[in-house]
Amino acid sequence: MILQLHKSISTQEAANLAVELKAFHITTNDNHILITSSGMKEVPVGLENKIEQYWVFNSDMQLSAKSFLPQKRQICIGDKIIGGNSMQTLLIGGPCSVESEEQIRQSAELIMSLGLTTLRGGCYKPRTSPYSFQGLGYDGLMLLVKMKEEYGLTIITEAKDATHIEEVIEHSDIIQIGAKAMYDQGILHACSKTTKPVLIKRGFGSTLQEFVQAAEFVLSGGNENVILCERGIRTFETGTRFTLDLCGVAWLQHHTNLPVILDPSHALGKTYGIPSLARACTAMGIDGLLIETHPNPKVAKSDASQQLTHEEFTQMYHSLKPVAEAVGYKII
Ligand code: PEP
Ligand code: MN
Repeated sequence: MILQLHKSISTQEAANLAVELKAFHITTNDNHILITSSGMKEVPVGLENKIEQYWVFNSDMQLSAKSFLPQKRQICIGDKIIGGNSMQTLLIGGPCSVESEEQIRQSAELIMSLGLTTLRGGCYKPRTSPYSFQGLGYDGLMLLVKMKEEYGLTIITEAKDATHIEEVIEHSDIIQIGAKAMYDQGILHACSKTTKPVLIKRGFGSTLQEFVQAAEFVLSGGNENVILCERGIRTFETGTRFTLDLCGVAWLQHHTNLPVILDPSHALGKTYGIPSLARACTAMGIDGLLIETHPNPKVAKSDASQQLTHEEFTQMYHSLKPVAEAVGYKII
């Protein structure tokens, strides 16, 4: 249940009330104080005159639910906006991992040359094998920061556990929570205490309900800037790396107020279908696309089989524009 308190109630009073009710309290951007809890189904006796409005839910999808906030949340990324009424699809490109200054500079220049704004690159890589490249860590993050400073790009990189979350929050413009880290309470908690946009990737074995509950951790802790990212789930199919759940995307668009970004690169795991999948995703009217691209994919240190060459990325970008336009969106 969400209780919206009267404007006359102070933050301190709200905090005391939240403790009493074993609930969370947050102050929204438009200065409403909300108390959220899953246990309550009715306004507690004695509080009636302190409550301006309330919402009852039958699941723990609350702050993210359209029944609470019917309009899609608007998120600022640098000087760009996604969500709200912006009708913009943020095309995020860059390599799976930051590998060297030369490599990430080439990717930064690609993004710049296309008039795009957002560069990705993993530094703390959540690998399945301890023998695989684990990322450059802090040094990689500093290379991304260098690209941000030199080219004026916004950057996105992932946190794989809570040991480095503070440095990712400090330096990255969007904090990516990887699919394997979707349940990491340390990361979710830290992300709830910043106002920077947080992109949560769906765990590949997670239901939609579990996915939105991860978002609720961040929202109920006080960060309203949450973006969901569908990147494929594990099914019985082994021909592709994962299965991109477009039905799930339709469900999220229908039931939640959160912007949704799609990542076909990690879903398919191969380059051959990425441009057509990206066009299919764009046709759904989405808030962003995350596509891996590398100056020389053959020698990529992670996810080599799915990264587009810069030429392929450029071609794909041009082919996305008319698709986005057809559904009233603009690629940014
Ligand atoms: C990535 O974006 O490079 C990545 C590791 O993604 P995921 O968490 O979706 O596997
Ligand atoms: Mn990757």
